Amino acid sequence: MDERLKTCLERLGHAGLLRSILPVEGPTGPIGRIAGRETVVLCGNDYLGLASDPRLAEAAKKAMESEGFGAGSARLVSGSRRAHHELEEALARFKGAEACLIFSSGYSANVGIISALAGPGCVVYSDALNHASLIDGARLSRAAVRVYRHNDPDHLEALLAEPVEDPSSLFPASRLVVTEGVFSMDGDLSPLDRIVPLARRFGASIMVDDAHGTGVLGEGGRGEGGRGTASHFGVDPLIDVKMGTLGKALGAFGAYVCGSRALIDYLINACRSFIYTTGLPPAVAAAAREALRIVETEPERIARLHRNIAFFREGLRSAGFDVPPDGTPIFPVIAGDADRALRLAEDLLERGAFARAIRPPTVPEGTARVRATVSAAHEDVHLERALDAFEAAGRSLGLLGAVRGISR
Ligand code: PMP
Repeated sequence: MDERLKTCLERLGHAGLLRSILPVEGPTGPIGRIAGRETVVLCGNDYLGLASDPRLAEAAKKAMESEGFGAGSARLVSGSRRAHHELEEALARFKGAEACLIFSSGYSANVGIISALAGPGCVVYSDALNHASLIDGARLSRAAVRVYRHNDPDHLEALLAEPVEDPSSLFPASRLVVTEGVFSMDGDLSPLDRIVPLARRFGASIMVDDAHGTGVLGEGGRGEGGRGTASHFGVDPLIDVKMGTLGKALGAFGAYVCGSRALIDYLINACRSFIYTTGLPPAVAAAAREALRIVETEPERIARLHRNIAFFREGLRSAGFDVPPDGTPIFPVIAGDADRALRLAEDLLERGAFARAIRPPTVPEGTARVRATVSAAHEDVHLERALDAFEAAGRSLGLLGAVRGISR
């Protein structure tokens, strides 16, 4: 098989699509060392700078001392630990939901949730730029999948208006609209204020993957911030399936789904990626719980993040880059083809800014890009250094002022 593997890899290489993992030294944070050189890190999803917060490590350590490290087995087999329950209760409260269930990763949550809720005879309506895990969940469900144009409620409406072949499905969601809250590679918001009422009007359920909105946007569980994109649009109570991750703004690892008690009880019984997998280590759950406590009690972090977003956005804009309108931490700098995106990322790294090239199939053909993210942990000097690098690299690649009009 190795020969054929090599051929496959060569093919990817020729298309500029070969991927490799770069070793980075130092704790997760705004600065990292790559090949011994210091760079400003602009590629994580640690939006609030919590991944290396000593309080998360301390919470994990305490939980390890009392509960050990591994969960031992699937939770349905070896049971739940206190840290699991405490995290689920805190997340449910934060998201204004009756109940919550945690998962080992966002990928496995999405694959399991969609394929538990929908099946043959159902229809999943999926945004064209949805994350791979949502696409894979829809495929695995064997429901019919209708892909609507990215963030286009009119197209969604047209698809919802099409007759459904077998509305009497055995699955709970005969029609399920699935979207990200903040799109991971584009940084734009799903217009939930239009999408959610549409789903309601057509009797469809709605699932929002808020991996990138949780801890970043919206009101807070106790009036602070970070409850997510649906809260930002004031439609939180109307979302049936509120999914999010723990490894991004919350700086930990894993994922959650919040919703009605019935939804959670059903998933415990039907969601294969929950049932057939080892529970999250209690220490990881305890760290995520601590992160949530910090989000709820230190609103200045979210404020700092949004200040940094505005600073970076204005810097990119005045350098001549096209900037997204929505005020999220994700900045796609479209390069076009994969080679060009790679060259941009390499040039940036040379200049001390670490942001990765994102290429098909992660993003559509012709929209390869560098995805830069900012965090609350960036200081002005970091962002200024990064902006200098972007301006110089953008100029040398002829990107400044040239990216307008590319459809995202
Ligand atoms: N959904 C979205 C929108 C994501 O961006 C990601 C992570 N890239 C995931 C799900 C998967 O989350 P995890 O990394 O926890 O598997």
